[in-house]
Amino acid sequence: MPSADRYLAADATDSPHEECGVVGVYLPTATDSDAARVAFFGIFALQHRGQESAGLAAGDGRSLRRFTNVGLVSNAFRQEDLDRLPGHVAIGHTRYSTQGSSTALNAQPFVSRGPSIELALAHNGNVINAAELRERLAEWGVTCTTGSDSEVVTHLLAWAPGDTWEEKTSYLMRSLQGAYSLVVATKDTLLGIRDPHGVRPLALGRYGPGGWVIASESCALDHVGAQFVREIEPGETVVIDRDGLRSFPSPVPDARVAHCVFEHIYFARPDSILDGQLTHSARVRMGVALAKEYAVEADLVIPVPDSANSAAVGYAEASGIPFGFGLIKNRYVGRTFIEPDQRFRELGVRTKFNPLPEVLAGKRVVVVDDSIVRGTTTPHVIGLLRRAGAAEVHVRVCAPPILNPCHFGVDMATKDEFIATGRTVEEICEEIGADSLAYLSVESLHEAVNNDRSGAGFCDACFTGNYPIPVQLQMDKLSLERTIHHTSAD
Ligand code: SF4
Repeated sequence: MPSADRYLAADATDSPHEECGVVGVYLPTATDSDAARVAFFGIFALQHRGQESAGLAAGDGRSLRRFTNVGLVSNAFRQEDLDRLPGHVAIGHTRYSTQGSSTALNAQPFVSRGPSIELALAHNGNVINAAELRERLAEWGVTCTTGSDSEVVTHLLAWAPGDTWEEKTSYLMRSLQGAYSLVVATKDTLLGIRDPHGVRPLALGRYGPGGWVIASESCALDHVGAQFVREIEPGETVVIDRDGLRSFPSPVPDARVAHCVFEHIYFARPDSILDGQLTHSARVRMGVALAKEYAVEADLVIPVPDSANSAAVGYAEASGIPFGFGLIKNRYVGRTFIEPDQRFRELGVRTKFNPLPEVLAGKRVVVVDDSIVRGTTTPHVIGLLRRAGAAEVHVRVCAPPILNPCHFGVDMATKDEFIATGRTVEEICEEIGADSLAYLSVESLHEAVNNDRSGAGFCDACFTGNYPIPVQLQMDKLSLERTIHHTSAD
């Protein structure tokens, strides 16, 4: 990733980055050729999950076609690009790179032609044993051409032994380690596959009589006019073709269920349903818990918009302190590859937030944020609030301190870069220049996301270090790509 992109994508927001959104569409008759258009609007609704590239693949019963491009979904496709993707089956993908740098080559969906089938695949997550599986593919005579773990998954499914989808996906799931929510299209069939831990979400919806949509988040179903049916279970495969929908249970039934708790804190849209509950409601409960655990005398509760809006509502409700907006977000800040000089580097936060002095002047302000990663943005936000006249600034974070990197599809930072590494909460408070600072406890976080007492398991490894599967701690997102370069240099 170019350094400018790294700066503006990460430092200017200091937020963890979700690594992809996926959509699959099956229309009921082979004469309906608009599946790619529905998938387009689906990934448009999932733009928050990745902004580097976008792609679609469509099957019309005879062949499979694909189109990918860099940039936002709205810029990546022209009308004529969609016209060239006719068919009743389609998948779509919007990407922020996990493994593999942000080149057009790594844009998804990937396509692979196996001995008996050609398929296109789009992946959300991160497969941690991709390098080893790449060697297995090489032994089969299958060569990977990119640094993406998703290409490995695509070839592995296309070449998987077995005569049925159940046999092939069972082989795939018993081979892969890590996080993967997948949509797969052949010329006439749609599949949705969720890893046995259920790390990344995947929702299933009905689209008119006989039609189906699969999406990373239920908000995409709403936007295309599909009816949410349920979430795809950890380890489940759904296969949709002219005979309807079939489901196969997990081939690894004893795997620990580990839904990513950060989806509830930050990644997912507040209007998406995760683990049976509205994400907005879980975030309100996080704010309520923060107010109960860390009360403070103040005049105004404001969110760092937009991701902390729901939690700030909860904090205000539980504390009795009025809610308001003290920072306005420029909604049209996107990624840029322009290298910022020092002058603009300092303006980084200013390009994203503008304070409201009339609201803030003389007030003791509680500012609610979703998380603090490196802590590069927070001091600037506090500075903006103080310069706008805030008398005191108390920071409340609806996540525990981040202490460990994610290996399951989220780009955060390295351990050394986390502001919480080697610092107490008091030291962090001093570092960011707040009057007080408090983080939600791990216990309260679990209570907030597990409100229905369903007993669903969560991954919270970035806070606790308790990874649901063993990880190679020094692995980073370019490791697979380096393996490829090293091999070719030999
Ligand atoms: S380590 Fe954190 S971000 Fe990664 S899957 Fe687990 S909870 Fe989610």
